[in-house]
Amino acid sequence: MDSPARPQIEAWLRYFDDLGLGPFYLDRAAVELPSIAPAQAAAAQAGARSRLPRIAAGAPSPVPPRVQDAVLPVVPSLFDAMPRVEGDSLARIREDIGDCKRCRLCEARNTIVFGDGDEQAQLVFVGEGPGHDEDVQGLPFVGRAGKLLTQMIEAMGLRREDVYICNIVKCRPPGNRQPERDEVATCSPFLDRQLAAIRPRVIVCLGNVAAQTLLGTNKSISQFRGQWFDFRGSKMLATYHPAFLLRTPSAKSEVWTDLKKVMAELGLKPPKPKPRSA
Ligand code: SF4
Repeated sequence: MDSPARPQIEAWLRYFDDLGLGPFYLDRAAVELPSIAPAQAAAAQAGARSRLPRIAAGAPSPVPPRVQDAVLPVVPSLFDAMPRVEGDSLARIREDIGDCKRCRLCEARNTIVFGDGDEQAQLVFVGEGPGHDEDVQGLPFVGRAGKLLTQMIEAMGLRREDVYICNIVKCRPPGNRQPERDEVATCSPFLDRQLAAIRPRVIVCLGNVAAQTLLGTNKSISQFRGQWFDFRGSKMLATYHPAFLLRTPSAKSEVWTDLKKVMAELGLKPPKPKPRSA
């Protein structure tokens, strides 16, 4: 559509999507999602390595519902059929991406935004795709939404460099539009490999696209936000995207509720407030 109204229409569509009211064209017959690799759980736990404190032995831990147990009409996740690469590492994955031209998102990008943070992180945040600032700097979540994400991480008692941050697609969709399904399908294997290489204890999906992609559901995030799922041995929870919080500050309390669940899972306590100077 070539119309002066296009940017406004796109902004509204993104707003509704953040609210979980879209994307409308994705709705289709629901099927049951197959089990998500329970055998990975033991390996993930045994291999987890991080500066983050562990949950003490015997301490209560939230038991996530398995995806197929949740009341979610879902479609098979893109990740279910993906084979594992033995001995994989983030460096090797980045090398394999190369100067990627596997999908049309390569045409308008400046930089491939691979991901950033601790390769041994116990906590990974997955967003949708790079925006303008990310495309320029080559780093995820560095714009206004990124600053808010950094504040959220610090409110959890962590530093940004303690976690790993990445996106579903590595190249900026033109005009910050939502990535198309075929673009997500083409780029997702790299995210799958990143998550398998890091083996985090917790994955937090930021926004509808990340949550729908990892869970393989067409349902809106508002229907399962804050619930625990099992994703290939990691616990996974979806919450609202920081960009949505910039537009809808009233939703911050819901996101903080979700992040407190993550903190409990990781045995984190919020940092003590700094004493006021006299
Ligand atoms: S979005 Fe992913 S698959 Fe598409 S060009 Fe960029 S790196 Fe390649």
